[in-house]
Amino acid sequence: MPSFGMAMTSSSPAYVDVVFPTALETPLTYHVPDAWRGLAAPGKRALVPLGKGQTTGYLVGTRERPPISQTKDIHEVLDAEPLLDAHLLELTRWVAEYYLCPWGEVIRTALPPGIDSLTRQVVRITSAGRVAMDGEGFLRPGERELMAFLRVREEAPLPGLSRRWPHARAMAHGLARRGLLEVVGEVRPPRIRPLTIPLYALAPGVNAETAPLSPRATKQRAILRALASAKGGLPRAEAAAGSPAALAALVRQGLVRLTEVEVTRDPFAYPGGLDPSEVARELTPLQSEAVALVQAAISEPQFLPVLLHGVTGSGKTEVYLQAIEIALAQGRQALVLVPEITLTPLAVRRFLARFGSRVAVLHSGLRGGERYDAWRRIRRGEADIVVGARSAVFAPLPRLGIVVVDEEHDPSYKQDETPRYHGRDVAIMRAKLLQAPVILGSATPSLESFERARAGRYRLAELPQRIESRPLPRVRVVDLRRLRGEDRLLSPPLCAAVRECLERGEQALLFLNRRGFSTVLLCEECGAAAGCPHCSVSLTYHSGRGRLCCHTCDFERRPPERCPQCQGSRLRYLGFGTQQLEAAVRERFPQARVARMDRDTARTWRAAARILEDLERGAIDVLVGTQMIGKGHDVPNVTLVGVVSADMALHLPDFRAGERAFALLTQVAGRAGRGDRPGLALIQTYNPDHYILRAVQAQDYAALWEAESQLRREQGLPPFTRAVLAVVSSPEATAAERAAMELATLLHGQGIRSDDVSGPAPAPLYKVRGRHRWHLLICGRDGRTLHAKVHEAATHLRALRPARGVRVDLDVDPASLC
Ligand code: ADP
Ligand code: ZN
Repeated sequence: MPSFGMAMTSSSPAYVDVVFPTALETPLTYHVPDAWRGLAAPGKRALVPLGKGQTTGYLVGTRERPPISQTKDIHEVLDAEPLLDAHLLELTRWVAEYYLCPWGEVIRTALPPGIDSLTRQVVRITSAGRVAMDGEGFLRPGERELMAFLRVREEAPLPGLSRRWPHARAMAHGLARRGLLEVVGEVRPPRIRPLTIPLYALAPGVNAETAPLSPRATKQRAILRALASAKGGLPRAEAAAGSPAALAALVRQGLVRLTEVEVTRDPFAYPGGLDPSEVARELTPLQSEAVALVQAAISEPQFLPVLLHGVTGSGKTEVYLQAIEIALAQGRQALVLVPEITLTPLAVRRFLARFGSRVAVLHSGLRGGERYDAWRRIRRGEADIVVGARSAVFAPLPRLGIVVVDEEHDPSYKQDETPRYHGRDVAIMRAKLLQAPVILGSATPSLESFERARAGRYRLAELPQRIESRPLPRVRVVDLRRLRGEDRLLSPPLCAAVRECLERGEQALLFLNRRGFSTVLLCEECGAAAGCPHCSVSLTYHSGRGRLCCHTCDFERRPPERCPQCQGSRLRYLGFGTQQLEAAVRERFPQARVARMDRDTARTWRAAARILEDLERGAIDVLVGTQMIGKGHDVPNVTLVGVVSADMALHLPDFRAGERAFALLTQVAGRAGRGDRPGLALIQTYNPDHYILRAVQAQDYAALWEAESQLRREQGLPPFTRAVLAVVSSPEATAAERAAMELATLLHGQGIRSDDVSGPAPAPLYKVRGRHRWHLLICGRDGRTLHAKVHEAATHLRALRPARGVRVDLDVDPASLC
């Protein structure tokens, strides 16, 4: 790996190290021709020859001497300014090394998506070029033509020139090498047309009461008054209030001014005014303690991870807000990670209400150009606070002084494709590199974070009570074992609770983590279930479209008339999903306004936001949904939460199943009774005595910790060890199995004891998109050694070129084994 020390001191390097946004693992060294010497610097992109073509790479380091004698020349530097500063380069390198993935892939993840398509190459004539044209410098006829063209135009985009002169590209580079032209990467403004609407407002200095109008102009006077009380102005129809002529007259007299206001349909866009009710609250003593801890680390400055463990509604967000205020007062910036922004609009809106336009929100609803705009605004230092999901951890904040990770336990922080980084852990590393505090907040901390707090590596701040001593929701378990079939969807106790809730005019959430109508189509003659041809899962029936769908690969088909196995005709739908739950609720409570929120009804973030808004303004009485409804929204009138089935979550084939179920059920239950009325959560299950459910009922994190930590310690699992999951897969079943066995042998060869490997075993989800998958979970006390050994073994296996189509994926700190 190249040295950063060198990179930062050398201003016009002769050689550069380049990484690529592909699977290529090691950096390649290129020579920098004189024309590009001044421009080549780490953190920029360059066009370089690779294989038979040329490709965009990222400059990550510089050298005076090449490590090998044969180096190729870079073709062009694409950026005038580095896209990544030294700090972010170092962070991305850490991610690459730790998560065993190519550095270039991490850099690609850290940059806004589509940035390459937003860059174009522009050719400009230099002053040396002008001199050469004026004098008798040697130029070939084609070159002279090109130069003449550029002398008039000053500059032109390279693709355009290529259309005019077939060899423009080669000519331009040749001329650039001689210093007569320069070829630079230039950012093209994103193709987003902001929507503007005309707004009418009082002209400056005009007083609605004393403005000189004829006494008969009552309509005009009324318009002035209306405009005086409207902050920022009114759209035409409202301003005119039925008299467009009067409005036009006012504009002619210069009393009313027309302005264009840019509107955006982004609900996270800065709304215009700070919300006066959103002021800093006086902190409780425990909140103050937490803020004081962080304050010391901001001023020092010092790396300080703080685990803020507080029940839902205990005032964690208030702690973040005030800690951030302190950082801003010292001229620093803040980074706030939230699990899924579209599902937590309320939390985000609190940041906007308190800090206004100083906040930039990075969310998945931003289109390429918008996201790129936000990214550039952040890089220019124009936003003091960035709120975003996982990938926002790479936001280019130049004066970052505090990092917050809300709901630090949330599995969505782990990316499930390469680079498989964990947003929380990268955030911690970022704070460490910057010597800054990082607050990890949760009502149900991950065992990893809690263990580190216990071991003294993180500071622990606890908020055990809700603000104003509001009660936590009561949690009751409903035993499904004694109920008849149809009652198992909506049990009598749950129905009674919904009815009472509706009678009080309050709202209810019903949670079921399965979308669709029926989860299995079973043949009653041979017992076969309709399965996906590409995955080892059964197909779910979706009633709206009348199709069977695979939730793993999105395969779809019409339901068969007869069983494909035995041609039997007695086919039966079993198992229920949210569609069926919604239908059942409508049937039982025909007067209630029922809505559903899952990936089918909330395909886009806008749709999700709309449903949550409806819930918030009371337009929904009962909201049915998947875990989408369990996130951090906070609707005071929701007093009942029903969990239709807890059993799937309890029995996932994953060592974190218990921990996950506890967090999920606690979060979902926490949606009830956030206002001053007490809430009730009802959990339906076939396992009423399960230790996880008892811990949820008692809202007892300590009980969960005791039980789970003991199991994990005995089995040598995280958080007491580090883990890597190796997934060996192939379209061919035997090839996958053979390669998995081979990997086990190679791991042995690296000195890994078989006690520390579970597997090889068929993955719980054995077949996905036609690939047969085998798992090896490798644990070890020391992360670095473990990672090095596993990486070595996997590299060996790949070098052995096992049967075609075999793939080995390494997942460091795997968040899910399913
Ligand atoms: P959490 O993030 O832990 O769920 P919040 O910070 O959202 O909790 O606080 C819950 C509610 O209590 C919010 O409405 C918040 O405005 C209010 N709150 C928080 N801290 C205080 C305080 N010190 N005094 C009064 N109200 C507070
Ligand atoms: Zn499938």
